[in-house]
Amino acid sequence: MRIPAELLPADGRFCCGPSKVRPAAVEALSDVAQSLLGTSHRQKAVKDQVARLRSGISAFFGLPEGYEVIIGNGGTTAFWEVAAFSLIRDRAQFATFGEFGAKFAKAVKDAPFLGTPTVHKGEPGSAAFLSAEQGVDSYGIPQNETSTGVAVPVQRVAGADDGALMLHDATSAAGGLAVDLTQSDVYYFAPQKCFASDGGLWIALLSPAAIARAEEIKSSGRYIPAFLDLVTAIENSRLEQTLNTPALATIFLAAEQTDWMNAQGGLDWAVRRTAESAEILYSWAEKSPTATPFVTDPGLRSNVVATIDFAEGIDAAKIAKVLRENGIVDTEPYRKLGKNQLRIALYPAIEPTDVQALTSCIDYVVEHL
Ligand SMILES: *Cc1c(COP(=O)(O)O)cnc(C)c1O
Repeated sequence: MRIPAELLPADGRFCCGPSKVRPAAVEALSDVAQSLLGTSHRQKAVKDQVARLRSGISAFFGLPEGYEVIIGNGGTTAFWEVAAFSLIRDRAQFATFGEFGAKFAKAVKDAPFLGTPTVHKGEPGSAAFLSAEQGVDSYGIPQNETSTGVAVPVQRVAGADDGALMLHDATSAAGGLAVDLTQSDVYYFAPQKCFASDGGLWIALLSPAAIARAEEIKSSGRYIPAFLDLVTAIENSRLEQTLNTPALATIFLAAEQTDWMNAQGGLDWAVRRTAESAEILYSWAEKSPTATPFVTDPGLRSNVVATIDFAEGIDAAKIAKVLRENGIVDTEPYRKLGKNQLRIALYPAIEPTDVQALTSCIDYVVEHL
């Protein structure tokens, strides 16, 4: 099936991660092909890019006094292990409502040196929340559950023990959803989502309490693999470096996207833009006779990752396949969720007009299937 050219989006990338990288950022990367790529990460050219990324992120989020931007290799999945080794003293509590939240809870459950965590579990498409519990020193929740398209506010747990840390998995939320960082101690993400770069890096915005916790655990004598040692990452980040070799292109592209978003108006601009895209998609689905938002509670619907169910008899997998044949890629649902749905990224790099075009293309495909 050929979708008429006039209906197609200008850019057909709607993947939730790795996500659309803006062509202008790739051009900028090509401009530094000789001066940056293939040069030492211990020298000025690369350290300047790490500094550009860290200061750009600091400006973008309006980093509160005393908070620091820390980076390390391995992406969010590595950061979960960093948190297990370097941030959780003994007992954690998690709210999980999808694949990603559950993975962090499992990593901590499997760590033999930590107590058994409490897990509040919600069904996919709904949310679960944290609640004060005596003896819990670390609380963890995703701000946006990328597998289902559910987003929750970033908030400290009222009544938690003094000094308990709040860890927010903002991998797909950071840069596209509003946040008051004073409500978080560890706001962590990876740059292949709203930061429109490639994977392999983790970025954590740490409060003074989180930094102090990492130092406390390290000095307690716990065995911490060097790669997962947050204090080592903090020391390296302060020098605009990483423990081992980072992907230079990932750092450069993330810095490009951060500068671009800052130039557009920063986080406020990005939050308005994802809200605009989400409004287009959800209001289309609500009016559609065949599509409906998977997340039934409008208050939980994510503005960065939208999941759309299709009525019985309409095969979402077939829609995704036809879209793909027409250059519109990665609208398939999260592989383990197993729903008759499409999942669509609405990150800041994606043009709202392209989201609009996507809805016309889906309508066309459904009509002609
Ligand atoms: C993508 C994603 C991850 C995994 O990130 P990696 O960098 O691939 O490890 C974790 N959590 C959330 C919420 C995500 O969206």
